[in-house]
Amino acid sequence: MLRVRQIATPSFALLSYIIIDSESGECFVIDPPADFNAHADIASLKIKAVINTHIHPDHTMGNHLFSGKVPILAHTDEGSLFQRIMNSSLAAVFTARIPPKISFTLIEGSDLRLGDIPVEVLHTPGHSPGSICLFWPGNLLSGDTIFIEGIGRTDIPGGSFREIRASIERLIALPGETKVWPGHSYGGRYSANLREIVPLLRQMIRSPDKNLLHNSKRVLKYFCIAPA
Ligand SMILES: [Zn+2]
Repeated sequence: MLRVRQIATPSFALLSYIIIDSESGECFVIDPPADFNAHADIASLKIKAVINTHIHPDHTMGNHLFSGKVPILAHTDEGSLFQRIMNSSLAAVFTARIPPKISFTLIEGSDLRLGDIPVEVLHTPGHSPGSICLFWPGNLLSGDTIFIEGIGRTDIPGGSFREIRASIERLIALPGETKVWPGHSYGGRYSANLREIVPLLRQMIRSPDKNLLHNSKRVLKYFCIAPA
């Protein structure tokens, strides 16, 4: 059985995760925050890999803590976006001076497992070209593709509303009792059953409403579109 430990970081309302197989003790660390050490003792964990749901700087701030110790994985389509970010002023703002070494090798259906339990990589582009979700029965770790009270922004470099709409349509088809673990607690919600948030998701992907995208009152946080 996989247990989910959620780590909330107040700045950026970031939600990071440790997914642990209670049988083998193996774990994945997802989108580690810069102060990961304040939440968990890296040396005591059997970390198989660090996984970035996408490579926006708020999701990679803690990567350097794991550099040279465990593989740091992201989707292959995030590679060029990462180079653009590292070459921009954003790198200095968000990321530690040491550029994290990320292996851009994940693809749809990559063979990830903790102990004997498979963890499925779903390629869900839209918020960024190589955004991924992780799925295992009963659980969806959704990165910045869907939140409990919104969806990921697409009016940023590498974003595509058309793509996120297709990605979300795919996620909506998962079992309604799937627990969604988002990449941010925008709106103050930390998780919910998929069934509960499907109506909002449908509403938000129905129209690429220019007002919705650009009306700053409706933009809850930098990387999120909140509902009207
Ligand atoms: Zn993001």
